[in-house]
Amino acid sequence: MSEQIPASQVEPSAETDSAAVARELTGDLPCARCGYNQRGLSILGACPECGLPVKATILALVDPHADELKQITHPRLVQAGLLLWTASAFAACAAIWVVRGAQIASDVLAVPLDPAPAPALSLVFMALSGLGAIVLIRPHRDLRPRHSVPPLLGVLCYLPLIVASWLILYHVDPAHPSVYGNPTSVPPERTALRLLTGLSIIGASLLLRPNAVRLAQRSVLMRTGRVDRQPMSALAAAAGVAMAGDLIHFFMPYASTGLSDLIYILAAALIAVGSFLLTVGIFSLTMDAWRIRRLIAAPGIGLTDIFDEHRP
Ligand SMILES: [Zn+2]
Repeated sequence: MSEQIPASQVEPSAETDSAAVARELTGDLPCARCGYNQRGLSILGACPECGLPVKATILALVDPHADELKQITHPRLVQAGLLLWTASAFAACAAIWVVRGAQIASDVLAVPLDPAPAPALSLVFMALSGLGAIVLIRPHRDLRPRHSVPPLLGVLCYLPLIVASWLILYHVDPAHPSVYGNPTSVPPERTALRLLTGLSIIGASLLLRPNAVRLAQRSVLMRTGRVDRQPMSALAAAAGVAMAGDLIHFFMPYASTGLSDLIYILAAALIAVGSFLLTVGIFSLTMDAWRIRRLIAAPGIGLTDIFDEHRP
């Protein structure tokens, strides 16, 4: 606020108060519903395109903390990295589903289906996802060095994930009858490798989460709880559900029980549900990365961005 406002304008009258409230938007403010720029409108007005009151847009979009958020040093790089990290993880899931779907189809229909190039693509996408996750190690300079350690370890979790997936897809599975046709004789090395992939996914989710949340907190929607705050913990939980199924496979040969058929069905169900939840979780994470991409490139809209510093 300027100290040099003429005395005539600071008279405490109702008129100047309402004039102050009705002042025009001098900066860019996209309508919260349709995106139409509200620049030049009175804050008492409504969007000329869709009728949403300007006040609603201000409440929804203006971030009271925008001026405090640190600028990201390489916003385009961080933006691209987040999208590469999440979208590649989803693409890797989709490729694995193609591999599994082809296997189930050939078991059921007895028609050999070749899922190539899905296995190779799944590994390439996992590697790309790990590459994208590197931007989480140090998204901006003001981060304390100790905040870079967990995401660094999280990126390293991709190594056992990729190696174990490669061993399952290229060494264990081709050498054994399909696990879907023989659910009670899953090779123990396959289960061990699956447990390793599960642990890697849990490690990557939980270790990458803190810096991902720090970036997401640039979004006023995220801070106010209007979008999911726990997508990455949900990923870890989904991987845990699938691992429970793998643990059953791992220990069943040592158990003597008359209910083994039922328990194998339970194991298969846990793996299927866990894998499905993981895929859904990664999809919603990809959507979140897409939603906050602009906030990474530019900080949120602050009050000083939509009004002039001085009153008219
Ligand atoms: Zn509108």
